[in-house]
Amino acid sequence: MGWTIGKYRIELKATVDWLSMSIDDEPFKPFAHARVLGDFPLRIGKRDAIIRRLRNLDVARSELWLDGVCVPESPDSLIQKLAPKDTLCEGVHPESFRTAAAPAKYLCPTCRKLLCAKHIAVDRVRCPACFEAAGRADALALRQLRTRGPLLGAGLGIGTALLGAALDIDKLVGIGAAATVLVLVKVTMGYFQERKEARRRDSD
Ligand SMILES: [Zn+2]
Ligand SMILES: [Zn+2]
Repeated sequence: MGWTIGKYRIELKATVDWLSMSIDDEPFKPFAHARVLGDFPLRIGKRDAIIRRLRNLDVARSELWLDGVCVPESPDSLIQKLAPKDTLCEGVHPESFRTAAAPAKYLCPTCRKLLCAKHIAVDRVRCPACFEAAGRADALALRQLRTRGPLLGAGLGIGTALLGAALDIDKLVGIGAAATVLVLVKVTMGYFQERKEARRRDSD
């Protein structure tokens, strides 16, 4: 997974034990223990950012925060584009009827909107609309991931139990039922742990 922040590219890679990070073409370096949750400060050029490790049921996932905003992931093909010379920002400048309109600094690589430094999203790459659309896509992908894993696990367990029943093999029924219960217990425990951690974060 990765993010384009200004002219930098941040990539995270998780192995069993370590979360590793690479900025631009640096080699991947261990950044945090894969199972430790919390906030890890990070410097991107001259900006301070945070990698937030959160629980997603029984696994950890990562978010990147800049200036108090969660930045949606982006493919490495998304790169910062500067506006052509002598173009104007297409954002709303209420003061522009009095002063000259603001010169554009950036060009959204997704929709090609021209924006000044004030109107570009916090990643300094996308326009606010494309930034928000990417955030919604991330949220949807996360919801699908959350349901797919447990459903697959429970489905396999139930399937095994049914097969055992059809073949009249008690042991297989037992294994299937146990696997199903295990998935449900893990998901329920993960869910309550997640809520507890969210409450603790909110009270900080
Ligand atoms: Zn855009
Ligand atoms: Zn503007």
